[in-house]
Amino acid sequence: MRYFLTEEQQMIVDICRQVVDEKIIPVRAELDEKEIFPRDIIKEIGGSDLFRLFVPEKYEGMGSGIFEVCLATEELSRGDLGIATTFAASGLGIIPIVIAGNETQKKKFLPPAAGGNKLAAFGLTEAEAGSDIGNIKTTAERNGDHYILNGTKQWISNGGEADIYTIFAMTDPAKGVRGMSAIIVEKGTPGFEFGKKENKLGMRSSATRELIFNNCRVPVENLLGKEGMGFIIAMRTFDQSRPPVGAQAVGIAMGALEEALNFSRVRKQFGTAISSFQSIQHMLADMATGVEAARALVHYAAKVIDSGEKNITRLSSMAKLFATDMAMKVTVDAVQILGGYGYMKEYPAEKMMRDAKVTQIFEGTNQIMRNIIALDMIKRGVV
Ligand SMILES: Cc1cc2nc3c(=O)[nH]c(=O)nc-3n(C[C@H](O)[C@H](O)[C@H](O)COP(=O)(O)OP(=O)(O)OC[C@H]3O[C@@H](n4cnc5c(N)ncnc54)[C@H](O)[C@@H]3O)c2cc1C
Repeated sequence: MRYFLTEEQQMIVDICRQVVDEKIIPVRAELDEKEIFPRDIIKEIGGSDLFRLFVPEKYEGMGSGIFEVCLATEELSRGDLGIATTFAASGLGIIPIVIAGNETQKKKFLPPAAGGNKLAAFGLTEAEAGSDIGNIKTTAERNGDHYILNGTKQWISNGGEADIYTIFAMTDPAKGVRGMSAIIVEKGTPGFEFGKKENKLGMRSSATRELIFNNCRVPVENLLGKEGMGFIIAMRTFDQSRPPVGAQAVGIAMGALEEALNFSRVRKQFGTAISSFQSIQHMLADMATGVEAARALVHYAAKVIDSGEKNITRLSSMAKLFATDMAMKVTVDAVQILGGYGYMKEYPAEKMMRDAKVTQIFEGTNQIMRNIIALDMIKRGVV
């Protein structure tokens, strides 16, 4: 397929493909098995300037759009979702600073994130607040020229590995979501510690960890925007980050389809390659069609966002929903095409199936995506 990429966009794809083929694919099974966070590969990605995709040119970024972020994320996910998530979660931590940061904050935090010297993370979820993010209990109480943070975040990607954390906390709990604020907290701030590292079903090369705030004093100049803007900042961030989750799903599905196709051409049963059976051919055809349809929707959503269009929530949610449901189906089908071999860890299909599941859950579950799409349609009265 041709995607009519510019020379620069094709270069982003080629750089990622090289990192994936040379550095990631040879070690991904071991990273998964031993749950290793691959610092050296993340450094390599930083050295290839890929973190600059999230940052405007003025702050040492490439000034690219969400489309370029999607191209990179898809390629990295074809190799390993955990590594692609470390990349994407750093972007998720950076986007709120790009959206709502003031000049001083941007000058301080964006250049090191662009160079990949410092990873970022996005801390919203808590034990009692998953889909219902208005229910967060972490507080940030103003005390002179500091906020005092107390509370625990859970399942934070890049937890412990990142240096810059965008944390959502209640500055005025009585106001509900209107009392939520976004505050940058740096690793090493007294009172900020890391809790347990999760043992996950998939995406095991990414670090997922608790963040614990115990009377953590953060200077007021780390507040993003104004007090009470946290919910809006989180929602605007998700608008931009959900197509890249769709791109993650397209990348995993692409990897699974490649495995299934290659296997079907060499595996012989009843004296012939299994690719000669029509049932296998139809599965491959459906998988390939799903990948292309999802990629088209992800690319379209990214381009609409990059055009500066304001009403992007529905389209962004559709891209995440469609692509991640597709990836779950395609990876299950890949395991089926590999038969018993698909169930064995010597082959990557079962890992891809385990990895794909989380894309239907994080950054808003697919039930929440359906709620958003339906409510937006009903509110506007237009399809
Ligand atoms: C590996 C991993 C990494 C993550 N990384 C991060 C991170 O970096 N930062 C961060 O802040 N969070 C992170 N999360 C959290 C993630 O965003 C949440 O898991 C997700 O938003 C869902 O919340 P929950 O798991 O508490 O599910 P719940 O909200 O408890 O939902 C449970 C079930 O109920 C359904 N449900 C809930 N409400 C509704 C409703 N109104 N209508 C219909 N169905 C509903 C859900 O769809 C789901 O099926 C991560 C999660 C995982 C698993």
